[in-house]
Amino acid sequence: MFIKKSKYRKLLSSNQNLQNRLKQLEEILCPCEQHEYVVVDIETTYPYMGGPSVEILDKRKLVCRRCKKVVYDYNGCGTMYRYKVVNDD
Ligand SMILES: [Zn+2]
Repeated sequence: MFIKKSKYRKLLSSNQNLQNRLKQLEEILCPCEQHEYVVVDIETTYPYMGGPSVEILDKRKLVCRRCKKVVYDYNGCGTMYRYKVVNDD
């Protein structure tokens, strides 16, 4: 089957959109109602060191206590942490 290139691109991008959406939903929804992320690791990197300013990027590794989903969260370089973390008890 032949399809036009533009149509093919459109299909590809809508497929990509769907996958992104699925990923978003997975990040929002936990099989056990709501994710309970705890911080298991923090890594500080300096991705930009030239010039007068130094960028600091904190990368957090979060694990959901309930479903064990792992996500990475960034703070710095114009981004804020996206995920809420529960306090360890
Ligand atoms: Zn979860």
